[in-house]
Amino acid sequence: MPDSVAKKQESEPQDYKIKTVKCPKCGGKRLQITTETDTHVKTSGGGYSSTKGCLGWLVLGPFGLLCGNCGSKQKTSVDTTNKTYWVCSDCGNKFRNLEDWKNELEKEDTAMKASLCISVFALLGAAFFWVSHISFMGKLLLILAIVYVLMAFAQWNLLRKEKEEYQKLEHESTEA
Ligand SMILES: [Zn+2]
Repeated sequence: MPDSVAKKQESEPQDYKIKTVKCPKCGGKRLQITTETDTHVKTSGGGYSSTKGCLGWLVLGPFGLLCGNCGSKQKTSVDTTNKTYWVCSDCGNKFRNLEDWKNELEKEDTAMKASLCISVFALLGAAFFWVSHISFMGKLLLILAIVYVLMAFAQWNLLRKEKEEYQKLEHESTEA
């Protein structure tokens, strides 16, 4: 008796997991997986972090180091990426593989949080210099904070739109 109960519990969630992927255009299920290597490097990733890192290093030693670290993390996430797509054998429609896309969205989410983190540190630095009556440094860090807040906002906005697209595709391309 306990054996059969355990087996049932094991098989049930598995059934839920297996979702059939179908073409969102024609509903066809004859799909082939294809991987594309995205070689275009976003200039905002590499160029941005290195200039900001240098600026941070000029203004403050430890803060600059922190900026550099966060920047390099961002750079690697934007480098060459492999994107997995499904290609429909019936109509030729190509659409993103959801698991792969989800991983990418998570990386973008981390990059956004890194930008927010830098802006918070820059703001704290700005406040510190302001209190110490070194307003020139305070202004520099304030500008840095504003740049990163704007960047984080842009990343958040993009991520929000992409998540909407993701959910739309998830709804259209999966069958329970
Ligand atoms: Zn199709």
